Amino acid sequence: MSNYYQPEIECASVEELKKIQSEKLVAQVKRVYENVKYYRDLMDEKGVTPDDIKSIDDLHKLPFLTKADLRDAYPYGLLGTDLKNCVRIQSTSGTTGRRVVAFYTQKDVDMWEECCARAVMAVGGTNEDVCQVAYGYGLFTGGPGLNGGSHKVGCLTLPMSSGNTERQIQFMRDLHATILCCTPSYAAYIGETLKDMGLTPDDIDLKAGIFGAEPWTEAMRRDIEKSLGIKAYDIYGLTETSGPGVSFECEEQTGMHINEDHFLPEIIDPETGEVLPEGSKGELVFTSLDKEGFPLLRYRTRDICVLSRKKCSCGRTLIKMSKPMGRSDDMLIIRGVNVFPSQIETVLLNEGYSANYLIEVDRANNTDTLDVSVELTPEQFSDTVKDLSAKEKSLANAIKTMLGINPKVHLVAPKTITRSEGKAVRVVDKRKLHD
Ligand code: ADP
Ligand code: ZN
Repeated sequence: MSNYYQPEIECASVEELKKIQSEKLVAQVKRVYENVKYYRDLMDEKGVTPDDIKSIDDLHKLPFLTKADLRDAYPYGLLGTDLKNCVRIQSTSGTTGRRVVAFYTQKDVDMWEECCARAVMAVGGTNEDVCQVAYGYGLFTGGPGLNGGSHKVGCLTLPMSSGNTERQIQFMRDLHATILCCTPSYAAYIGETLKDMGLTPDDIDLKAGIFGAEPWTEAMRRDIEKSLGIKAYDIYGLTETSGPGVSFECEEQTGMHINEDHFLPEIIDPETGEVLPEGSKGELVFTSLDKEGFPLLRYRTRDICVLSRKKCSCGRTLIKMSKPMGRSDDMLIIRGVNVFPSQIETVLLNEGYSANYLIEVDRANNTDTLDVSVELTPEQFSDTVKDLSAKEKSLANAIKTMLGINPKVHLVAPKTITRSEGKAVRVVDKRKLHD
């Protein structure tokens, strides 16, 4: 099958790749040092100058960036170029307190779309394909990223966005969609809906799917493949680095090739920050080698995974990353939205509730559920019994305003939430997200 969008890069020798990376890194560090005061200050603090960076072997000398830096520098502090050179922003879904806003120049958009085009071709996409993009469009990177990649390959692109599932299936049938791009949970839901409509995979022309933006298991892959009659491929990315397409799966389906000519990966020990040798499990860190608008160096993703240069049967030499195996922070991804428990706690305290609460996340019918139980104080308890459900609704609304997703709120009697004798357990995630 092997189709490549840019074979000269995707199948380059490791030496060639390293040479490209080193040249880009040296130039990028200079540019960032000159243009981004925030990062220059971090480098100065560490006593590193651009002259110290002569190749990728010097990468470890640079300071890290974290989500906290992004928050401190919001919105323009990490801009790598004049705002007038930027043509687009994208942002992480819904969240207020920890919103990430990324800026793109036209060159950045082209690069990002090329990364997605590599992903589309890796699943066999050509200009004869009809590619249905059912990721959300808008600030979320999923829709715009895959839309651009599909265009670059020359597929007939159906910019469906997510939702309206029966209509998705109708378009899929009428226009003979062959590739589906969406979150794995939505793919599973489309599969179920197909069945509910009395249809089988034989009634559609899909052959492949490109699914990502959230963790999913091999078991879920098999279910989706069966229910839609396709091969299901993983794709990974984050808004901070551009969006989906940082890495993508090929026909081998054993991990995702990183577009390392643009995103230089490292694995570090999340506790010490020490760089770990290839094959070790640790936190993934990316340095964007040529982005202009939002050029993050050594950005800590908090995703835990393993890198491997084992030879791949698809012919690509790009290093592979495993599926993320968890996170080194407490971020949850619920219905595609990044949620930090602290955000929910902030709402509770703002609304006059106690910090005795329990967040429960589960998955029913392939859709994530979020239940928040909150303990009432004895005073609140005695005067709220009559309008409990109105109070629950109002609190649910406040949480929805913060997160962008609807929780189910349960106000419970005093002293009913189990107290912990050690670290408080405030989050119970019952979903099986990792193998
Ligand atoms: P996106 O637009 O891709 O959802 P966000 O910046 O909102 O980007 O979230 C990025 C996070 O989503 C990543 O750090 C990772 O934890 C998770 N993620 C993205 N793609 C995948 C994937 N294929 N498998 C597992 N987790 C993923
Ligand atoms: Zn491969």
